[in-house]
This record gives sequence, structure tokens and C-alpha cells, in this order.
Amino acid sequence: MRWILFLLALGSGFAQALDYHLQPRQIAEGVWLLEGSTDNFAVDNGGNIVNVGFIETADGVVVIDTGPSRRYGEALRQSIEKTTGKPVLRVLLTHHHPDHVLGNQAFAGVPIAALPETTRLLAEQGDAMAENMYRLVGDWMRGTEVVLPTEVVQEGTLEFGGRRLQLLALRGHTGADLAILDERTGVLFAGDILFYQRALTTPNSPGLDVWLADLDRLEAMPWKQIVPGHGPVTTDAAPFVQMRDYLGWLDGLLRQGAEQGAEMNELIRAPIPERFAQVNLSRYELIRSVSHLYPRYERQAMARVDANP
Ligand SMILES: [Zn+2]
Repeated sequence: MRWILFLLALGSGFAQALDYHLQPRQIAEGVWLLEGSTDNFAVDNGGNIVNVGFIETADGVVVIDTGPSRRYGEALRQSIEKTTGKPVLRVLLTHHHPDHVLGNQAFAGVPIAALPETTRLLAEQGDAMAENMYRLVGDWMRGTEVVLPTEVVQEGTLEFGGRRLQLLALRGHTGADLAILDERTGVLFAGDILFYQRALTTPNSPGLDVWLADLDRLEAMPWKQIVPGHGPVTTDAAPFVQMRDYLGWLDGLLRQGAEQGAEMNELIRAPIPERFAQVNLSRYELIRSVSHLYPRYERQAMARVDANP
């Protein structure tokens, strides 16, 4: 009897666990945030490790990113309609990574817009990324398929229902990273150009120098509040400060390692400065970043030696 009760409890636990319990939080006039965990993809968070937002205009709603699964996208669309009572006008994708775009299916009939390179990267890598998500997140992903953007956006200004959005086309995180500033409230959706209190990820970065240059352009926008792609919202420049510090440290570690001929397995065990103690997953992401980036630093170091014998 006891084990039957246990199984029933387990069963209902699973049923409950597959609800994302999305609770949009208003962070400025007409601007809403769904804040994800700063952990890695896992069965217990359903892949909801990401910040997704939506902006209400007179004519309808603009959605910024669609989350990690079809199930998330459907819950997101329901919560938008319940919160605003308005239809979704447009989806804007910040970049092609799976936690940001695999909810696209739920927005059938709505134009989904992205930078051209984002669409190309999603077409190229989307299926493999989705497969990896199925492996990491399990049942939450059921029925999820890659849906490509249907519309192209470029750097500039878009207007929806009396609200102007400034779009910035950046590159540092994936090669195609869109940042969106709502002019009325000064809320900046930075996408994954800004991680805050969560270690940044580098599988598609064209280079940490490119990323550092993007930070200058992004910080120069007239923002009042920052929504990083991952981590808590701020009204000060703390995410920029932390990103510059972290990217600078990572770049220095890799460059010095290459100059000294260090092996990858030495670098992945390098001490992480105490000031990054609050940055979640820093060891895990250091291991990944060394594997993504270190071969380039080694090639550069070797080229330098050859050039100046
Ligand atoms: Zn992300």
C-alpha cells in the first residue's frame, strides 16, 4: 500500500513538475519579465534558465524570445494573453540559442523576426541543439521542433502601437546578437551580450575582443534598466562592470596560458578569482570556454612565435 501511495505521489509530482508556473512580473510601464533560473539546463527546471520579456503596445504585444520548449512557448503565450488581453503582434529573437528560441512553435501565425545571421545559424545548428535539450531536459521538450524566423530585422528603429524600439545588431556572443531598447521606459533587453551573476557561454563567440567592444556600444544606449539574457534585472551598470571584468580575466587566462604553452587540462583547473564567487556556474563554463576558445589562442601564440623567430 505504502509503495502505491509513493508511486501516486511521484506521478502527481511529475505532472506538477511539467508546469513552468510562469509569473510575468511588470518591471516598467507595459514591460513584463519572466525571469529564469541561473542554473544549467536540468530536468528540474525544464530548461527555463532564461529571461524572456514582452512589451504591451496600443495595438498588441511584442515578445522578446520564446523560451526553451514548445511547452514553455505555449505557457508564455497564454500568460501574455491573460496579462494584457491583447494579441501578440511580433516575436523578436535575440539570438539562435535553444533556450531563447525553442518556444517559437507556440507563435504560429505571428511574424517571428531575427537578424539574418540568427536565422542562418538556427537553420544550421537548431536540430542538434534541440536534440541536446531533449537529452538534458527530458519530457519537458516533448513535441518541440525548430521553427525558423519568418522575418528579417536590422539595426535601427521599429514602431509598434505607438512604442518605439531601438534595435542594436551585435556579435560577441553568437555572431548575431540583437539588443532591444524600449524608448518609453528605457528598459534594455540585452540578450546574452549580458550575463549577470551567471557565467557566460562561448560556443559560438567570434572572440572575446568582439564581445568587449559590443559592451561599449550597448552601454552607450540611453537605458534606465537592464534585463540581461540570464540573471537579475538591474537599474545600474553592474552587469557591464561584471562582464568586462569576467571577459578580461578569461581572455588574459587563455592568452597567458597559450604563451606559456599550458595544456587545456591545466587551464580548466585554474583558480577562479574570489570576486566571481557570486557568478553561478563559473567552473562549469570555464571548462566549456577553454574547449571552445583555447585552440584559437594557441594558434595565435604559435603564429606570433613564427613571425618573430
Ligand atoms: Zn542564453
